[in-house]
Amino acid sequence: MRILIVEDEPAIAASISAALGASGYQTRTAVDGEEAWFLGDTEAFDLVVLDLGLPGMDGLAVLKRWRSAGREMPVLILTARGTWPERVEGIDAGADDYLAKPFRIEELLARVRALIRRAAGHASPVLAAGPVSVDTRQMRVMIDGANVAVSPLEYRLIAYLLHHKGRVVSPGELIEHLYGDDDARDANALEAVITRLRKKLGADVVQTRRGFGYVIGAEAE
Ligand code: CA
Repeated sequence: MRILIVEDEPAIAASISAALGASGYQTRTAVDGEEAWFLGDTEAFDLVVLDLGLPGMDGLAVLKRWRSAGREMPVLILTARGTWPERVEGIDAGADDYLAKPFRIEELLARVRALIRRAAGHASPVLAAGPVSVDTRQMRVMIDGANVAVSPLEYRLIAYLLHHKGRVVSPGELIEHLYGDDDARDANALEAVITRLRKKLGADVVQTRRGFGYVIGAEAE
């Protein structure tokens, strides 16, 4: 899962980025409206945390431009406390949720988890396919209810496929959403992660559709 953080105050941006990183998300930070708009328009993100008060183009204008261009990723707006007209305007402009500053980082994380799973059509923070389940609150992977030790990358991969259960996900999409901008990205490394996951979770948990990609929880053929 890849999240764009749009925040011009460095301390707030850094604390959000650290908390999301510790929760298994890849993050990218933009510090002004133009950069935010460009990144959101040209790269794939699973969610955006968007501060409304930004230098240059403000957050509301950025959001309106994304929505009118058909960009549908969930957007959580950050607003100053007490500015309810701003929140109403933000939600009318296509925001999915808002958080008033100052906020507790735990609340931001809970809202991020909820928005991402709702965008994928899931009501519960625990995602499951057959014997495999993932608790997105605790970043735990279980098989028949027993914990399985996984690396952060393995966690991100299984959680991404479970969020998109039943859909074949291409290697390119997985690489884009799982790896950071500085990580080496290639399909062989991805295949190696899938192989490790199959050893830990069972050979047929993640299925390969040759030439198309990977799927979890697909109907039996
Ligand atoms: Ca600001």
